[in-house]
Amino acid sequence: MIDNTSKLVIAIDGYSSCGKSTVAKDLAKLLNIIFIDSGAMYRCVTLFALENEIIKGGAINVDKLKEALNHISITFKFDAQAKTNETYLNGVSVEKKIRGLEVSNHVSMISALGFVREKMVELQQKMGETDSIVMDGRDIGTVVFPDADLKLFMTASPEIRAGRRFKEYQDKNEDISFEEVLENVKKRDHIDETRDESPLKKADDAVVLDNGNIGKEEQLEFIVGELKNKGLIK
Ligand code: C5P
Repeated sequence: MIDNTSKLVIAIDGYSSCGKSTVAKDLAKLLNIIFIDSGAMYRCVTLFALENEIIKGGAINVDKLKEALNHISITFKFDAQAKTNETYLNGVSVEKKIRGLEVSNHVSMISALGFVREKMVELQQKMGETDSIVMDGRDIGTVVFPDADLKLFMTASPEIRAGRRFKEYQDKNEDISFEEVLENVKKRDHIDETRDESPLKKADDAVVLDNGNIGKEEQLEFIVGELKNKGLIK
């Protein structure tokens, strides 16, 4: 039995496709707290930009995007039956659309823009103001919640991560090769790590969790152990 009566903020950062959301969801369920997938928010902005010709021929119309950000509403709804979070863009569920390859191929260029990050960080910080929360992303422990109660930095090799995403695409019958997925993973790593605005990096006080060869249960056990060591739960 886990007892967490105090307000908790848990930050999970790391590379793309290393299972951050999966472990964050499980943890949220276990602790009965809110899970927020910050990547889904950048994906929503990217989807909006693609659907409204703000990204055209690989180029972003920055002025149009700045204006559009005032009209984009991103919310999460918890589906109690499926026990999952669904992402809504301007009131419409976009959970499936934002995970497609077109959005994946353009999201890093959108998330590299300072004014987009500023807006998303503001929304994310508001989400953590009142409730206990576990949020996953790239800059949660470094920028969004620098005072988080627990910070985790997750990692696994690009090949292992691409293998996981490839399986997801196969399950959805999407026509894509392993090589293409691996290329996308590596490209995103590179953009995320080298961008000027909040690049992906481990916070000094984050605990590293390499989940290349360990299962979901062990990952959860590891995190619960860290929370207990810090006296955050009993
Ligand atoms: O986590 P996920 O892979 O869905 O995130 C999609 C993209 O959004 C990442 O590749 C990264 O470019 C961006 N992102 C970010 N900061 C976050 C979360 C995601 O820059 N906090």
